[in-house]
Amino acid sequence: MKAVQVVGYHQNLELKEIDEPTVQGPLDVIVKVGAAGVCRTDLHVLEGQWQEKSGVELPYTIGHENAGWVHAVGDAVTNVEVGDKVILHPLMTCGLCRACRLGDDVHCENSQFPGIDTDGGYAEYIRTSARSCVKIDDALEPADVAALADAGLTAQHACAKAARLLRPGDVCVIIGAGGLGHIGIQSMKAMSAATLVVVDRNPEALALAREIGADQTVLADGGQVDAVRELTGGKGAEALLDFVGEGGATGEGVAMLRDAGNYYVIGYGENINVPTIDIISTEINFIGNLVGTYADLQDLMVLAAQGKVKLHTQQYKLTEFQRALDDLDQGKVRGRAILVP
Ligand SMILES: [Zn+2]
Ligand SMILES: [Zn+2]
Repeated sequence: MKAVQVVGYHQNLELKEIDEPTVQGPLDVIVKVGAAGVCRTDLHVLEGQWQEKSGVELPYTIGHENAGWVHAVGDAVTNVEVGDKVILHPLMTCGLCRACRLGDDVHCENSQFPGIDTDGGYAEYIRTSARSCVKIDDALEPADVAALADAGLTAQHACAKAARLLRPGDVCVIIGAGGLGHIGIQSMKAMSAATLVVVDRNPEALALAREIGADQTVLADGGQVDAVRELTGGKGAEALLDFVGEGGATGEGVAMLRDAGNYYVIGYGENINVPTIDIISTEINFIGNLVGTYADLQDLMVLAAQGKVKLHTQQYKLTEFQRALDDLDQGKVRGRAILVP
């Protein structure tokens, strides 16, 4: 089969002809890839940023945002059948460790991460496990949802945490209406009756935000903290979802929150600089978000099937992988880039 592989760091991926994966264990599932999302993490893999952490042996097949059709199953697989349409949770988890037992898939002690530390989905077929397969609605196609497997799942995970605590009419600030933020706006809107205030530097992104569920938008032109405080009667918001990862560095994210508010960190890059005395006196909580659980992915697929979360995608053939990566690198992709067979 065709597979796009990492053959070395700081060099281009290569299209290879390799053996199709086969069922090796009783819980293995082979999926015919219908779509693989092209993610910024793939660029980071090629830059060698994951080299030490993953310890993966080269060459291997890249691609961690995968959806398709079940092609073959091991003897013990009961939850999916050949032909089922599925999206794959990005991790293959053991199901037996304490984290798995608690439903905290991302912190599984014995997980594999296809596309990062084992063969991924830039290929015609991928091997995964029964536990990773989420069946998707008949109305959805793999290409519509594949890119939700990672970035979308992370947004969903943070939004689900926030939505569990927010009351109707509470204010939730969303920083960043880009790729991740635009999923976050839609899933918050679908899951919560909080008032959504979206902050972004780009007026076009704010216009899109209003179309997909923002109740208020604030242009980040320097006056955004004052604007948010004014919208909340001077008190600040109950929750803030930072999809950019810059709001902490200047302290502006914290300044938008009321006492005992919750600061959800999703985007990353800058540090959060907050004096400890302020953390004590305000009792603001800082909450990290790493991908999401299996159940979060199921929930996101329900929202997608209901038409409440939509993703704009740009499709490329698997063999056009280089153009897709170049377009992503040069900021030419609107929404998410997807490889299809
Ligand atoms: Zn990704
Ligand atoms: Zn586990």
